Amino acid sequence: MRKIRENVLAYGGLAAMLTLTAPGEAIGLVWDHARCTHRVGERCDGRKGCKVDERAADQWNERSRAEWRRLNRLCKQHADRRVAQLGFEFKGGVLVYQWELQKRGVWHLHFVVGMETAAERVWALEYVKAMRELSPMCLFGFVDSKPLRSPQPARKAARYLGKYLAKWRADGTFEVSETVTAAGRTLLTYVSRRLTQRSCCTMRSLRNARVVWAWLTGLILDPSLDPWDELVAVCLLDRMPVPLRGP
Ligand SMILES: [Zn+2]
Repeated sequence: MRKIRENVLAYGGLAAMLTLTAPGEAIGLVWDHARCTHRVGERCDGRKGCKVDERAADQWNERSRAEWRRLNRLCKQHADRRVAQLGFEFKGGVLVYQWELQKRGVWHLHFVVGMETAAERVWALEYVKAMRELSPMCLFGFVDSKPLRSPQPARKAARYLGKYLAKWRADGTFEVSETVTAAGRTLLTYVSRRLTQRSCCTMRSLRNARVVWAWLTGLILDPSLDPWDELVAVCLLDRMPVPLRGP
């Protein structure tokens, strides 16, 4: 959550968050009617607690990462080309993405595109246009392009994405979502290197921040970090911006 938040905040501008769903029954993600709790004849829906057949879900989940990489690459190539045709010197990319386990038992993907500059807006529109066309070929479902019409400050997207990973219960305790506890998916989130270079907030630097914390509280004798890593860790720990790296 921290990595997502700090990096989306480091982007700072207007952005849009979109969701790419898993496909439906036509591709083979059929419902397991034995697990339905509603009346016979009613339409199945993950929100009613219906689950996709486990073997079908496993197969699709297993394959979805590679298919996403392919789809993302194709859409990026298309969008880069269109932006270049308009005379912009700009190569785009998704700022952040995050997998979420849907109630029906398959993964879907939330991603954020920057929409601050004209070139970014063209890139985002073309990227999503290509995705709507190519997603069936890569075994994905649907992507709604509506969020592109009303870009939001990036911090809003950060807040939404955080909710998919964990939420506060009414009694003030913290609950990690099923997305995080589900096995078999090591990389739940991705952050563009353009952003991590600015924020210095990566899983590695956050781990270093915990080491520095342990040192400051006397749990360990020496953090054994190089000076730059230690500086970044201290900044993350104190929630201060990391200074620009000198020449
Ligand atoms: Zn059902």
